Amino acid sequence: MSNNKPMPAATEITAPFWEGLKAERLLIQQCNACDHWVFYPRRHCPSCLAHDLTWRDVSGGATLYSFTVARIATLPDFADEMPQKLAVVELDEGVRINTTLVGLDESEIQIGMRLQPVFAQVDEQGRRLLRFTGLDKDVQSLQQASMTDQAATEPAPAADAPRQIALDDDVGLQSLVSEAFSDWSNEIVVDQALIDAFAALSGDDYWIHTDPERARKESPFGGTIAHGALVQVLQSRLKLALGYEITGFTSMVNYGSDRLRFPAPVPAGSRIHARARVKSVERLKRGTQLTLELNTHVVGQERPSVINELVILYM
Ligand SMILES: [Zn+2]
Repeated sequence: MSNNKPMPAATEITAPFWEGLKAERLLIQQCNACDHWVFYPRRHCPSCLAHDLTWRDVSGGATLYSFTVARIATLPDFADEMPQKLAVVELDEGVRINTTLVGLDESEIQIGMRLQPVFAQVDEQGRRLLRFTGLDKDVQSLQQASMTDQAATEPAPAADAPRQIALDDDVGLQSLVSEAFSDWSNEIVVDQALIDAFAALSGDDYWIHTDPERARKESPFGGTIAHGALVQVLQSRLKLALGYEITGFTSMVNYGSDRLRFPAPVPAGSRIHARARVKSVERLKRGTQLTLELNTHVVGQERPSVINELVILYM
């Protein structure tokens, strides 16, 4: 898994908290002078100002204090997590923690509900982030969920058997022409590893694609983005739900493209999918030419990332 998401940097004061998470333990400071629980980590007790705090294990039992559902990614790197359930959670010790709810549908989230911690593993080095979920959820599977390869393709929606149209059936071919797009294809993840592989293959290793640190600071997109040409060729991995099949030809060639545009960026880590429509069918001397307008979008985005008017020649 490739992941450009910003990661917490442990400091001398906060390191025990992050090390605790790695070991699936929730450690919170408590003041030895007045018993006050302290979070975020500090040198002194905010209640009595004593410089005498001890890290202690707590159960993680908690209550949802407040939440919001973010539908637009705060950084492009989080596009794959939308919608994100950002929450303030109150531990039974009384301290509040900013976190993310996982494994919960929006309809299940209620202020005041009981929660349990999820030590979500986020990289191969074993780093974990503290998240929360409902008491009836399977914590073990949620802890690993962020490590599973989300590129696993979902099957294309079960389409009815495609309509077969013979190449010599003019009326049938013209009936394919439509303003309406097909259903969406399967989804795939365009992660940094894929972008890096394409940069190596194509020789286009411009920093806006390959340097997450610099892109976070300098790119207008707030992070790295995929090459337009990469997103274009990934069309081969997207199974279109066209609903027809042309029969009765001896060869079919990709004749090129009438129009190719990259109107919107694909941030690293995005899921993409595509849909298409038949724009025109023409019978020419060289064969029957079908123009397929194929649009690839970041999942959930109105504006396409690639518009490709593919010309397919049947002979
Ligand atoms: Zn104190």
